[in-house]
Amino acid sequence: MGVKLAKNAGFCSGVKRAMDIVLDIARHRENEQIYTYGPLIHNPPTIELLKKRGILPLEDICDIKEGTVIIRAHGISPLERKMLKGSGVEIIDATCPKVANVQATIKKHANQGYNILIVGDREHPEVEGLLGYAQGRGRVIGTEEDIPALPDTGKVCVVAQTTQSREEYLKIAEKISARYPGALVFDTICDSTELRQAEVKEMAAVMDAVVIVGGKNSANTRRLVEVVKRRGTTAFHVETAEELRCIDLSPFRKVGVSAGASTPSWIIEKVVSELNESRREKQGGWLHGLLNLWLLAVKNDLYSAVGAGCLLVAGSLLQGLRISPVDIAVAALYVLSMHRLNRITDKKIRGMEDSFSGEIYRRHRKAYVAVTVLSMVAALILAIFQGIVPFLVLLLITVGGMLYAVRIFPHSWRLERMKDLPGSKNVLTALAWAAVTALIPWVEQSGTFTVGAAMAFSFNFTLVFVKSIMSDMVNIQGDRLIGRETIPVLVGEERSRRLVAGLSVFLLVLVVSVQPLDWASSVSFALLPCVFYVWICVYLCDRRAKFSGAVMEGLLQTNFIVAGASTLFWVFAFSRA
Ligand code: SF4
Repeated sequence: MGVKLAKNAGFCSGVKRAMDIVLDIARHRENEQIYTYGPLIHNPPTIELLKKRGILPLEDICDIKEGTVIIRAHGISPLERKMLKGSGVEIIDATCPKVANVQATIKKHANQGYNILIVGDREHPEVEGLLGYAQGRGRVIGTEEDIPALPDTGKVCVVAQTTQSREEYLKIAEKISARYPGALVFDTICDSTELRQAEVKEMAAVMDAVVIVGGKNSANTRRLVEVVKRRGTTAFHVETAEELRCIDLSPFRKVGVSAGASTPSWIIEKVVSELNESRREKQGGWLHGLLNLWLLAVKNDLYSAVGAGCLLVAGSLLQGLRISPVDIAVAALYVLSMHRLNRITDKKIRGMEDSFSGEIYRRHRKAYVAVTVLSMVAALILAIFQGIVPFLVLLLITVGGMLYAVRIFPHSWRLERMKDLPGSKNVLTALAWAAVTALIPWVEQSGTFTVGAAMAFSFNFTLVFVKSIMSDMVNIQGDRLIGRETIPVLVGEERSRRLVAGLSVFLLVLVVSVQPLDWASSVSFALLPCVFYVWICVYLCDRRAKFSGAVMEGLLQTNFIVAGASTLFWVFAFSRA
């Protein structure tokens, strides 16, 4: 079975803008109650995730007296806006500019005495909002059958709900024009809807079946399903990847995937990766088995633990230290426990629905917590055998890691948790990794300052820092809900990209200059592939490669394995020479 993802699947510009506004406000006003006027988008899993972040959909204006209310992309009627203003709440308008344009067209023509005909779904919030701008002169046309029942009337202005099918709208508009010669017809269909429908139509022509991802209550998603069915192709409408498990896709060789305008990329990614995994299971073969195993290791954080062990090998060899298996185990266990602990302790992401690790946590919660605690304890016990100073260093960063997402300062303070420090996640993660992979072997075996030790710490810190920033860039591209503790959210994707490029040049200078300057051994040259690998990852991130979140995370983490393997190879080759 081949799986093809549509180019235009996922958030449209209006929904993306509304989501960005909501998340930005939520990040800046963590202690305020934030509401969206009705569900922000028609996507139940995302609404649940927003609720976990404390962003609640408001159903009745009378329910609140204070707080911030965000108007969703569909917009609202002038009367609702007036009532909201009267209730004393702060209003932030996230109405899509294209919807605002239709509202303005209706208002202008209603003022000029036109009767307004809105072609769309009567119950849809966008249509309800648009009707409010018609000042009592509006009517909704759901189908052609509604036209004969229209009264003979004066001037007529026709508009469409932005997510209507253009083909259907033009047909209805033609009939209206025949009934009311001189009617003004405006093409208010959104291009993004049009593009999506055209692509799905093409897809339906060449695929055996098409999976449409999105809320069952999302009008534009349902329309995509209709487009596929009208073409005579089998269509499946799913809200989540889990629903695919109840569908038998084995009779279909080629399966297309598209999604409604309110479906976040992380849900689409999960659906595509579920389809790909079931395809690999069916095809069998050792390569597919290996790939599934690799993905399982990435999702379980075992791959990052292996990465930490490999980075310790590079860190030790750079400093001219022996490779200690106990140090490797300490680094691996520490990284495994901390990765998992922060997910468990952060209340706002406890569900982890948008994370590729979320399902493992949900299915095996007790085992997940037990492995986390045992790894942490085992790392601390092993560190005792390495000496009191390595133990104290590990204890310090373990306590720091445990408290990272926990409220430690009073509620009234601007910063309640370490996590509230802007950009802290990327910096502190890199510091902790550098401590276990370069500092601990140094304090245990040497303790004397050398340029090689400083180089090892700087290299490991920078490599992890770069990887951490790129992971969050991938998270943003996947519409995951991450906050200002990450540099890409803090400074934006473009500046983060420039920062990563600058740091990769720093890494290049570091690895090629220390040996000629006689500051460290030639092992540093072995790290050149890591710099090239960073550039490959930057290229993949820039191109928004259609890999799933887990595959991208695994690819980013592979650089730690490249570092360990290439330094080991270098030392082995030279010792034999
Ligand atoms: Fe705006 Fe178009 Fe998205 Fe509707 S579908 S919210 S009009 S961009």
